Amino acid sequence: MKRAIFPGSFDPLTLGHYDIIKRGVTLFDEIIVAIGVNGSKKYMFSLEERKAFIEAAFKDEPKVSVVTYKGLTVDFCAEINVKFILRGLRNPADFEFEKAIAHTNRDLAPIETVFLLTAASTSYIASSIVRDVIRNNGDYTKLVPNSVRIK
Ligand code: ADP
Repeated sequence: MKRAIFPGSFDPLTLGHYDIIKRGVTLFDEIIVAIGVNGSKKYMFSLEERKAFIEAAFKDEPKVSVVTYKGLTVDFCAEINVKFILRGLRNPADFEFEKAIAHTNRDLAPIETVFLLTAASTSYIASSIVRDVIRNNGDYTKLVPNSVRIK
């Protein structure tokens, strides 16, 4: 069974993440969406909310599960016996950043990072932009799956 984790903050899940997960499912038997918990980071949505948004978006997709983790991604991969990390690439800045992380991860553990280019239609979407739109009462619903709604 080929299993991959898709790590990130998902604050909140966007249509860009959604696209990568959907396409990841065609490449792997299981995609484990892994929400990293970083004590020093401030989030707009609580861990429970971020997890619930993703679970609801993929409630009809049995190959997708959602977990949370602390610490190094490669340590978590070893813990759950996963050999692949899935990441999305939007632009050259993502590439440079992701390259450094992937090389470091390869130094730390025998783990392959698999990159998918974003769909052209969602390549401009970032969680930080969605948060800005929400803070300023804009229509964020065009940027996120239906499961992401603010009460
Ligand atoms: P991080 O805190 O690691 O940046 P994110 O939740 O922002 O976490 O992103 C997790 C993964 O999703 C990363 O691989 C990132 O490149 C990818 N990603 C983010 N936004 C998009 C998008 N619009 N299209 C495709 N992939 C994306």
